Amino acid sequence: MSEDEKVLTCLHCGNKTSMKVVASHNLTEDDDIWDYSVDMYHPAYTVSFYKKWNLHLCPICKEMTLERITAFSEETEPNGRPIYNYEYVYPQQSNYSKFIPKVVNDAFEAALKVSKLDGAICIMALRRTLEKMCKEKGATGNDLFKKLKDLQSRSVLPPIMDKISYILRKEGNSAAHADDVEFDPETVSLMIEFTRVVLDYVYSLPAKIQQAQLRIEENEEDNEASEG
Ligand SMILES: [Zn+2]
Repeated sequence: MSEDEKVLTCLHCGNKTSMKVVASHNLTEDDDIWDYSVDMYHPAYTVSFYKKWNLHLCPICKEMTLERITAFSEETEPNGRPIYNYEYVYPQQSNYSKFIPKVVNDAFEAALKVSKLDGAICIMALRRTLEKMCKEKGATGNDLFKKLKDLQSRSVLPPIMDKISYILRKEGNSAAHADDVEFDPETVSLMIEFTRVVLDYVYSLPAKIQQAQLRIEENEEDNEASEG
């Protein structure tokens, strides 16, 4: 594989595929390091900061992924080769999935994978994601709507979720029952966003709040220890 092609997981469509670099930009910044005890008029040596941005095109969904490669002349491997750091700056990677149970997250990722290929299947997969979430949270009721209502009555979901879950359920029903319904990309991406908000609220937010609480408690303990 050439240097300007790389296998990446596309965060727009969820597919892992070989992506070509369609644009790239280099930037090197030098910094002179002076040692006046040795030489007043010439820098002792120069260090360089190196940056490169690669724009990768996903052949499946035709969206872009921006990669940033950085290196610093003073950070090298034992053989003298610079150490390159690779980051993906766009689209922004969220860390929400680490708090979501695997069964639920797998269902959500499956929905993302088909989002650009078939809107109706994607919306059904989003519904399935919510079904898995309801089951995982022990919701009662004989259909998805009643289960979401049950989670709401137990304050697992907030009141505003009423409207979101209504829309998700309606769209999910027409995806499942009417073959002739076409789902435009905007509807599909809105449904994905709503599902993400629901998952965030149910799993990520409580976990993050708990982490913040733990940090506060630890700080208080530290303060008490230093005061006492
Ligand atoms: Zn893609």
